[in-house]
Parts: sequence; C-alpha cells; structure tokens
Amino acid sequence: MREYRIAAIPGDGIGKEVIPAGLTVLQRLARLTNEFRLDVTTFDWGSDFYRSTGALMPQDGLHTLQPFDAIYFGAVGDPGVPDHVTLWGLRLKICQGFDQYANVRPTRVLPGLKSPLADCPPGTLDWVIVRENSEGEYAGQGGRSHRGHPEEVATEVSIFTRAGVTRIMRFAFALARSRPRKKLTVITKSNAQRHGMVMWDEIAAEVAKDFPDVAVDKELVDAATVRMVNRPGSLDTIVATNLHADILSDLAAALAGSIGIAPTGNVNPERRHPSMFEPIHGSAFDIMGKGLANPIGTFWSAVMMLEHLGEADAARRLMSAIERVTAAGTTLTRDLGGSAGTAQVTEAVCDALT
Ligand code: ATP
Ligand code: MG
Repeated sequence: MREYRIAAIPGDGIGKEVIPAGLTVLQRLARLTNEFRLDVTTFDWGSDFYRSTGALMPQDGLHTLQPFDAIYFGAVGDPGVPDHVTLWGLRLKICQGFDQYANVRPTRVLPGLKSPLADCPPGTLDWVIVRENSEGEYAGQGGRSHRGHPEEVATEVSIFTRAGVTRIMRFAFALARSRPRKKLTVITKSNAQRHGMVMWDEIAAEVAKDFPDVAVDKELVDAATVRMVNRPGSLDTIVATNLHADILSDLAAALAGSIGIAPTGNVNPERRHPSMFEPIHGSAFDIMGKGLANPIGTFWSAVMMLEHLGEADAARRLMSAIERVTAAGTTLTRDLGGSAGTAQVTEAVCDALT
C-alpha cells in the first residue's frame, strides 16, 4: 500500500472548516480505493498561534514540514492582524522557503454551474493560469524614506531574473503541451514596463523554440482582462507574473461562478521540497463559524494534490464526484445559489465517490 505524509494547515477563518471537510473526503477516497494511505498531521499555525507566540509558525516550521509529501493549506487572514503580517509570516514563507515557484490555477465552469458571462456555453471557459510565484512584484524589495513627511518616497521594486523567468516559462509551455489544445498565452505589460517585461517577452520567444508544437500568443495584461470577458474560448493556458496573475485569477474565479470553487497548487516542480495545495479564497470572516463555506475549492485542491502525488485515478474519481454534485445542483452552498452548508456538500461528495 502506498503511503503519503500530508501536513494539514487549516489556518484562519473558514480555513478551519474547509480543511477538515477536505480531509474527510480524502480519507473516504483512500479507504474506497484501498491503494494508498494518507498519514495526516495537522498544525495549528496561523493568527491564533501568532497571538499566543508572536509568530504565525514556529521558527523551525519549514524544517518540520520538509519530510512531508504535500501540504494541504486552508487560509490565513484575521481582522486583528495586519494582512502583510499574516501573508508573509506563513503562506509566503512556505512558498518562498520551499521554492514553490509555479502557482497553478485551473479555472473551469463546472457542470451545472453558471458563469456570469452571458455567452459561455459549456467547455468555453477552460483555463489554467500559471502564476510566477517566487519573484517579480512580490519580491519584497524596496523601502521608504522620510516616513510620514511630505517628501516621503516609497519604492516597491519588481525583481525578474533570467533564471526565474526561464523556469516558469518552461513550466508553462510543458503544461500547455500536456493539454488538448496545446495553446499558451504569455501575458505582460511590456509596452509600459520596459525592462523586466521586455525580458519576459524575449525569454518566451526563446523557450518557444523548444516547444514548436505549442501555439503561443502574447497579450498585455489590461487587454487580457477584456479578452477573458469577451472571448473566453480564445484562451487555454496562461502564464503571467506574480502580480498580474494574482489579479487575473481572481477575475477568472469569479467568471467561473464563485471564488469558493477555485483551487491552487504552489508547486516545486523539481520535488526537492513539498508542494502546497489550497483553495484560492481567503479566511472570509464574514461567514466563518456558520458552516456556510463552500468546500469545493478545497476539494478541487485535493484533486491537484493527488495528481501531484501520482494518484491520477483517485484524482479523476474525486473530480468526477465533485462534478456529479455540481451537475445535480441539489446540494450547493449559498455562493452558488443553493442553501446547503459545508457539511451537506461534504457528505454529497463522499456519497458521489461510490
Ligand atoms: P482574506 O483576507 O484572507 O483574503 P477575505 O475575507 O478578504 O479573506 P475571501 O475569502 O478572499 O475574503 O473572499 C471574499 C468573500 O467571498 C468572502 O467575504 C466571502 O463572503 C466569500 N467567500 C470566499 N470564500 C468562500 C467560500 N469558500 N464559500 C462561500 N463564500 C466564500
Ligand atoms: Mg482577500
């Protein structure tokens, strides 16, 4: 029997509701397939941990996580703790510490769900957004001088390295090649930002030579938002910088029906460190503790985690269980127009596994 060590970090807010739901579904799946076991360790890191210890995770937290095969993450964010503290203190620490440089975001209108786009027949909106996850606008470089004075200047420097851009580009081309349409759109802002973004374009053209079977086109990020709305079927695999893809993927999630269904993988493709899988939504304090959170983004993230672990059959089985539940349309949470809670959706997906 194959065995995987999973580190579960529910984090804050509805993360504490959706991660246990995801683990319930995963353990049910493991029992049903009888081919692999999941050895799960749950860590109580996050904003409560910060309030009692002064840090979101222990000093040696990365060392603790290193032996795991994957990390299953909920959300961080707490009204009582500044956002940049929670983000940099836990999520980004893991992403950067484990060199999870490829952030992968599949976006698709699931069967039975509706896109807010007027003209979007089934199959039209089916994208994977690849977000550069280790440098760029979120490199954390810059500073402030004359703080609080009228002459204050703040800089927020984007760092793009040839090595960093080349590896994300190669990853995106390989992913595009693995999908039926073999189509990649490279998104930049190289008309207005004339250093890093121009290098992106150049490296894209160089890497494209190694992937002659992938059709590649370029788009500026502002035009890309319009294209996502007006011509969703013209896009398939998309690669963009840390900031641009962050914004585009929130738009993508909304166009696919709800932020509550969207999954992410933070991947270290070389597998020197564990990769991390999480829903894209945040801690959503407005609905926490009420059992209302949509767990589908967390379940879909589990599908990605299973694919990463090499359990392709189990991944397909879970994805089709999710799709059976959305297609039936009788057990949906409020964000999808239904009246079910987290527990009922979890039960429905567990039932659909059999
Ligand atoms: P954070 O600060 O951690 O990003 P947030 O409170 O800004 O969190 P998100 O969680 O990103 O908000 O989502 C915005 C809104 O979308 C929430 O306030 C919530 O109402 C809704 N939402 C998000 N996730 C879900 C979900 N899984 N199920 C239902 N509604 C959700
Ligand atoms: Mg938010």
